[in-house]
Amino acid sequence: MNRVGEYCGLCGITGFSGDSVALVAEGLLALQHRGQEAAGVLIYSDGKMKLHKRKGTVSEAMSDIPSDFFTGRIEAAIGHVRYGTYGGSGVDNAQPLMVSMAGFQIGIAHNGTLSNAGLLRDELQRQGAIFMTNTDTEVVLHLMSHNLEQTGFNIRKALEIALNRLQGAYCFLLMTPDGFFAVRDPLGFRPLNLGRFEEGGWIVASETLAFDVCGAEYMREINAGEILYIPYDTFIPESEQFNNGAHLFRNRPGLAQCIFEHVYFARPGSRIFGDSVYTTRLAMGRQLARELPVECDIVAPVPDSGMFAAIGFARELGLPFDMCFTRNHYVGRTFINPESAHRATMVMRKLQPIPEAVKGKRLCVVEDSIVRGTTSRARIRALREAGASEVHMRVSCPPHKFGCYFGIDFPEPSKLIAGNFSVQEIAEQLELDSLGYLSKDGMLSCVSAHNTYDYCTACFDGEYPVKPPEQYQKHNGYKSLI
Ligand code: SF4
Repeated sequence: MNRVGEYCGLCGITGFSGDSVALVAEGLLALQHRGQEAAGVLIYSDGKMKLHKRKGTVSEAMSDIPSDFFTGRIEAAIGHVRYGTYGGSGVDNAQPLMVSMAGFQIGIAHNGTLSNAGLLRDELQRQGAIFMTNTDTEVVLHLMSHNLEQTGFNIRKALEIALNRLQGAYCFLLMTPDGFFAVRDPLGFRPLNLGRFEEGGWIVASETLAFDVCGAEYMREINAGEILYIPYDTFIPESEQFNNGAHLFRNRPGLAQCIFEHVYFARPGSRIFGDSVYTTRLAMGRQLARELPVECDIVAPVPDSGMFAAIGFARELGLPFDMCFTRNHYVGRTFINPESAHRATMVMRKLQPIPEAVKGKRLCVVEDSIVRGTTSRARIRALREAGASEVHMRVSCPPHKFGCYFGIDFPEPSKLIAGNFSVQEIAEQLELDSLGYLSKDGMLSCVSAHNTYDYCTACFDGEYPVKPPEQYQKHNGYKSLI
């Protein structure tokens, strides 16, 4: 793996009188960058839940939705795009999941990674639970089921008890026969947003771009630690905060929103964690230019995610911005495909240098991140072969030295180039004239959080906001701060 993958995207609609299924599919399409392995949609209509999920992209998975998904009144629809590393890549692990629980049908879709899923799964299995999937998400359904009777079969209370057992990163959309839930973990690792349709009805999605394509208006973020419940009888949202004892296992007072969503994952047209991704990326480029200016003829991005940082970098230094690579849009995002066999080939197929743009020029290439370094090395060589006289690189975040256990699929730390080599050594290995990374403080100065503790930066500094799963704690790089 040369790049990193996100663990999924969510889009759900309730109380909307139009075609909720088609809009959820459109919303998922806008979130496709968050997972391309599988997609699914679950609806509640005429007192029954119906599920459709397939492997592949949204277009592939949604091409054969049964026609009865589009008839009758739909109280709610929830959709999911999956990038699977927890559990296998089979369709059984695709989401949403739907189960029958004490006579109730329940559906769930999840973005994130539960750090203690392995421990909870072992505990539940010892008590007799039989799991149908390998996902961490199924643990939540079992925890709810175990507590349902003691809550007087109150799904909402059973959910809250289940949430109190969870650690790590999670956003959930839950569908029940009575209402629709949206939940975000108390540290707010992953983004989740609420929007509204002018004609009535609500939409919840990982990124606000889904609202734009569905014609909905952004209302607000789902708060960290919030359970938002929208009952079908009133469609008036009810919000409550839950405290899952986060103070017991986190090492700081603030949130732990994933800064890497801003650097790389989220689409520039989205707002996440209260900030525009576009504006943040421009600011990161400007800050990078102030910290590490370079004398060159052209500033060029590595498309697409380095684009806006490169624009900010060029503007700050008053340098020409140009494209040095042309991108083949038909090979897909190479890092997100879990079938690894074709990755090396796909990297070279995806971006090709433009000789007329680079010949005899001193280039500064702006990247969003360097993970293993193999992709960057191949691209820099290609620029030199195309005639560039100098190639400098600037990276719009600090060096990635540590793993992520909160929903981003980095290679293990021993495979991260910055985990093993200094910046100077990396520059030599990549055959660069110079290399520079944005500082952590500089990166955090580009977002409008109340304090820097509101962002997780663990993959850069090893300061994990919650304990990684047991099996990773001895892993090279984990600092025991808790
Ligand atoms: S470790 Fe890095 S990628 Fe993972 S949540 Fe924290 S900032 Fe995001």
